[in-house]
Amino acid sequence: MTTQALAGKVALITGSTSGIGLATAHVLANQGINLALHGLLTDEEGKDLAQQFSEKYAVKVHFSNADLRDAIAITAFINSVTLALGNIDILINNAGIQHTESAVKFPTAKWNDIIAINLSAAFHTIQQSLPAMQKNNWGRIINIASVHGLVGSVNKSAYCAAKHGIVGLTKVVALENAEQNITVNAICPGWVDTPLIKQQIIDIAARDQLSFEQAQYNLVTAKQPLPEMMQPQQIGEFILFLCSDSARAITGSSLPMDGAWTAQ
Ligand code: NAD
Repeated sequence: MTTQALAGKVALITGSTSGIGLATAHVLANQGINLALHGLLTDEEGKDLAQQFSEKYAVKVHFSNADLRDAIAITAFINSVTLALGNIDILINNAGIQHTESAVKFPTAKWNDIIAINLSAAFHTIQQSLPAMQKNNWGRIINIASVHGLVGSVNKSAYCAAKHGIVGLTKVVALENAEQNITVNAICPGWVDTPLIKQQIIDIAARDQLSFEQAQYNLVTAKQPLPEMMQPQQIGEFILFLCSDSARAITGSSLPMDGAWTAQ
C-alpha cells in the first residue's frame, strides 16, 4: 500500500490538539486519512479544530476531550470514534505529560498521572482497537515513546518508567500480531519543539539567569549531539512512512529519532 492508498482510513491520535500530535494530524489528513482528534480542549474549541481540519483537507473528523487518566472515559472515547468514523485502522498513542523532580521528592499524584497518561492509556486504546484490526488483517499502531524509553535522565523517574514501559508494551503487541498485517512500533524522539518542554527551558533560564534561547540551546546540547530541536512535523512524516506498505517489516521496533543522543 502506497501512502496514497491510505486515503479513507481512520486514524486516532491521542493528544492531537498540540505539538507532535497536532503536526501528525496535519500530515495524515493531507493524505485523505479520516481523523479522530483528541486532547484537553473545551468542547467548543475541539469543535472549531475539527471543523478547520474537515474544511482544509475534506476528511471526516471526530473530536474528543476524554481524560486519559480515566479508563472508563477511554472506553467511551473509543466507542464514540468507532460510531462516528468506523473502525480504527491507525492508532497513534501520543498524549503525554512531564514532571521533573528527584525520585525522593517526586509527588505520588504526579507519578500516578504520568503512568496513567503516558503508559496505561496506550494499553487501553490498544486493547480496544486491536480486535477490529485483527478482523480486517490490517493495522498500524505507533506509540510515541521517547529517547527516555531507551536511556535515563535525572529527575525523570516517572517519565522514564512510563516510556521504558511503552517500549516493552510495543514489543509484546508486535509479537502477538506479527503474522497479521499489523505493525506495532515505538518512536523515540530526542528534543522536539513543543509546549511539553517549555517549562523545563523556563526553569533553566530562571535558575541560570539566561535568555530563553540560550537556556534552550544548553538544554538541547547537554544530551543531543544535533544542536537543534526537531520539528513536530518531522515526526509526523516518519509516522506516515510507518503506515505505508514499505514499512511492513518494521514491527516491534523502538526507533530513535534523536540527533545521535543514544549513539553515545
Ligand atoms: P504537548 O504538550 O504539545 O501535547 C500533549 C498532548 O497531550 C495535548 O494534546 C494534551 O491535551 C494531551 N494531554 C495531556 N494530558 C492529557 C490527559 N490527561 N488526557 C488527555 N489528553 C492529555 O506535548 P508533545 O511534546 O507534543 O508530546 C507528545 C508526545 O511526545 C508525548 O508522549 C511526549 O512524551 C513525547 N515526546 C516529546 C518530546 C519533546 O521533546 N517534545 C520528546 C520525546 C517524546
